[in-house]
Amino acid sequence: MNGFTHQSVIDEFEATTKDTGKVQIETLRKILEKNSETEYLQKLGLNGRTDLESFKACVPLATHKDFDPYIQRIADGDLSPVLTEKPIKSMSISSGTSQGKPKFLPFNEEYLISTMRMFRISFAFRNREFPIRVGKALQFIYGSKQFKTKGGLTAASASTNLYLTSQYKITMKDIHSQSCSPDEVIFSPDFHQSLYCHLLCGLIYSQEVQIVSSAFAFSLIHAFRTFEQVWEELCCDIRDGILSNRITVPSIRTALSKILKPNPELADSIYKKCSGLSNWYGVIPELWPNAKYVYGIMTGSMEPYLMKLRHYAGRLPLVSAGYGSSEGWIGANIKPWLPPELVTFTVVPDIGYFEFIPIREKVEDHELEKTASILNYIESEPIGLTEVKVGEEYEIVLTNFSGLYRYRLGDVVKVTGFHNSAPELHFTCRRSVLLTINIDKTTENDLQLAVEAATKLLAEEKVEVIDYTSNVDSSTDPSHYVIFWELSGNVSEGVLNECCCCLDQSFVDAGYILSRKVCGIGALELRVVQKGTFHKILDHYLKLGAAASQFKTPRCIGALNSAVLQILCDNVVESYFSTAFD
Ligand code: AMP
Repeated sequence: MNGFTHQSVIDEFEATTKDTGKVQIETLRKILEKNSETEYLQKLGLNGRTDLESFKACVPLATHKDFDPYIQRIADGDLSPVLTEKPIKSMSISSGTSQGKPKFLPFNEEYLISTMRMFRISFAFRNREFPIRVGKALQFIYGSKQFKTKGGLTAASASTNLYLTSQYKITMKDIHSQSCSPDEVIFSPDFHQSLYCHLLCGLIYSQEVQIVSSAFAFSLIHAFRTFEQVWEELCCDIRDGILSNRITVPSIRTALSKILKPNPELADSIYKKCSGLSNWYGVIPELWPNAKYVYGIMTGSMEPYLMKLRHYAGRLPLVSAGYGSSEGWIGANIKPWLPPELVTFTVVPDIGYFEFIPIREKVEDHELEKTASILNYIESEPIGLTEVKVGEEYEIVLTNFSGLYRYRLGDVVKVTGFHNSAPELHFTCRRSVLLTINIDKTTENDLQLAVEAATKLLAEEKVEVIDYTSNVDSSTDPSHYVIFWELSGNVSEGVLNECCCCLDQSFVDAGYILSRKVCGIGALELRVVQKGTFHKILDHYLKLGAAASQFKTPRCIGALNSAVLQILCDNVVESYFSTAFD
């Protein structure tokens, strides 16, 4: 166990969160002391000072744009202490699906250490509630493409950078979460082949699997939707011990040949179990009878997938994972028994120095900043981790050991309580505005809530929204919101008309409602796309090098993203206009 016991991890966490204020000051001191010679801090005139007052006086709040020139120089091979005392040797590429375009972020030893720590904390609390035996994990994880920057640094998604380390493997072993699949499958250059083989390995080791997981819930849904298509082929492979010829990557074929042996008994049992299922309800516990829970990030933009995930998981609990990003880690889910909708993240006070910009929406001043891409909020000075108030919303600001100082993460969280003296955060949404035409400012969360409301009208039809996105159509006068839906089955015109009106009525932003009333924004349009359209969108992003493990369906497709817009428009089968404001 490398000196770790799960109880000692919990004890340490409890101690750290009991003295949050002090631990934060000490963490800031350590970060600043360690990096006092860096160009970034030197330029700002910190002169080796490590106290909070000097830090706040000298170091400005910053976004990725501010750090970009420094990060770019590091990527180009500058080995001097630019942002961190030790040279950065790898870069993480953030998914770019949630934030527009991919970004480089420093990946260093400290990021790795904090990630392993978060994994251990989450596991210790999880295992207390849902103990697992030594076994395997069916993990739908995928290494992204790796390449070298101009300066020779490895660049890949943050998860790929992690999977490549020996520490990752050690930690996974310690927390009984070793993947069923060999590395060749995880690092396959072809996502589809990788997914097929994850399923195959999972079935071969079905009795040993204790956990079914992925980084984000999207990958779990995608995996089991694929399973519905390929299960008979998987049974054939297992029956004959011969790998499907859809797998063409030689390294995967070689690796699988060591695992795949003819097993007609297992194939028959899988076949029988699958045939007996009703619409795939409970497929996970049926095929993996020793699995104790389904695990992954299920909060925020993953919430729309929960209904389907619950369907596949049947009686198994869904356990939502912690809160972090390619920039750094924030909090752990220490109440794994909570349904994902109620999950909060307890901030780990020695993982970084955290500040919170209080935000309150400004409703009376919608005339201002018509084109601003940031919500029209009243902003005050950032406050410290122990100063936040229950019920209030904040934007998170990170200072950490990976070279980010007062970095605005762009996520909005709500404080729901405290664990000891560490705040518990509910993830609300990304801060940036998703849709805007006039004085309206619609966020990802507004859209999610509107889709949730309209989806309820489909329940009686037993049809689900497989996935959705949106866009502003400026070709009409006035412009209007377009919502794209991929549905699991046919729905009558009448119901879709109702859904369309419901979407239009469910946007709560005062600017939207006002603009709709005075025709500053046209009637909302619901466009239903063919089945498989969002699959094509995923493929498009994967071809561009996006990491499948961190993929999040973009909830808005801007006019400049013509390729994705084209995929959507080419696949529209029906379209409806709202009459809600007529
Ligand atoms: P990436 O750097 O591509 O992994 O994306 C990080 C972003 O994903 C964060 O800034 C959040 O917006 C979102 N995210 C990460 N963890 C969670 C979580 N547990 N719940 C909701 N959103 C999350």
